[in-house]
Amino acid sequence: MMKALCYSKPNSIAWKSVPKPVIKLPGDVIGKVLATTICGTDLHIVKGHVPESTATAEASPDKGLILGHEGIIQIVETGPSVSKFKQGDVCVVSCITSCGDCYYCAKDIQAHCKKSEGGSGWILGHTIDGTQAEFVRIPFADHSLYKAPQSLSFDSLLMLSDILPTAYEVGVLAGHVKKGDTVAIVGLGPVGLSALISAKALEPAKIIAIDLDDSRLQVAKEMGADELINSSKVDAKQQVHQLTTSDIKDSGVDVAIECVGLPPSFELCEELIAPGGHISNVGVHGSPVQLQLQNLWGKNVSLSTGLVSAYSTQALLDKVLEKKISPEILVTHHFKLDEFEKAYQVFGNAAANKAIKVVLGSDH
Ligand SMILES: [Zn+2]
Ligand SMILES: [Zn+2]
Repeated sequence: MMKALCYSKPNSIAWKSVPKPVIKLPGDVIGKVLATTICGTDLHIVKGHVPESTATAEASPDKGLILGHEGIIQIVETGPSVSKFKQGDVCVVSCITSCGDCYYCAKDIQAHCKKSEGGSGWILGHTIDGTQAEFVRIPFADHSLYKAPQSLSFDSLLMLSDILPTAYEVGVLAGHVKKGDTVAIVGLGPVGLSALISAKALEPAKIIAIDLDDSRLQVAKEMGADELINSSKVDAKQQVHQLTTSDIKDSGVDVAIECVGLPPSFELCEELIAPGGHISNVGVHGSPVQLQLQNLWGKNVSLSTGLVSAYSTQALLDKVLEKKISPEILVTHHFKLDEFEKAYQVFGNAAANKAIKVVLGSDH
């Protein structure tokens, strides 16, 4: 038996004894969880907003669904077809499980992997048991784990499971951030701050951080934001256009990265963007937004949205090794692995606790 953080029904989680995972498929590994973290998505599941997770939990009433899609593991057992890893290896778990050879994986859209259990890339802690446990089963391990360099802390490696690739792929790369650009980041939660530090590595001329909360703006400043705008106090649109006034071109930003997932923040991005710019939407939206296509088409603006595929994890790992990105700065709280209930409370009230990412387990 082992201990795991189990979701049984909306608003009900518990750290309890459940059977240890076993190898089910040839590409599986079983890992001992050394460190893990809690994601905003886990909070959505706990609130009952992710119906497929509630259905999975209710289908096994004794255990429920073990949450978590981020983690550092030490491999204790490998399936017969695993070729890249062996017992004892310490690895970063990707939030996306990828078979490595289906139609979508071949196109680097692993978010839609067709061969994975559940038929999509995000299955851990979503439709199969996840990483918030003493042990976890990782399917398709050869394409879903990354060997952890010994020189890096677990705090920095954990950010490579999800938030850093999410912000980098869906925000920074899809937004075509280039050297010399002016970039606005709207929303400075963990993903917005990850967009900030990963955009910074591409040397834009200026990063404008926009949020409603002064303490988050202060954190953004410490992480390298050049300009701070509290959109609850000033007219953010006016400020951005003032800051980007130029003799040779129209005002506005080259890239606007939306990291909130609410209509006003998306609509603000539409108002900030300069001709030829890119709006990249990272936020998870629960309702429609007003698409100002009549303005955007004439400005040659492109728009991108997406789910993370984690195709950039190795490239990000290299940038962390080169110290171009230092993601451990995002970790604000540490807990022991058996302190999940407390950690969920702290992360669930992130603003009051000034929490960005909470790490459970060893901090290496
Ligand atoms: Zn996540
Ligand atoms: Zn696949």
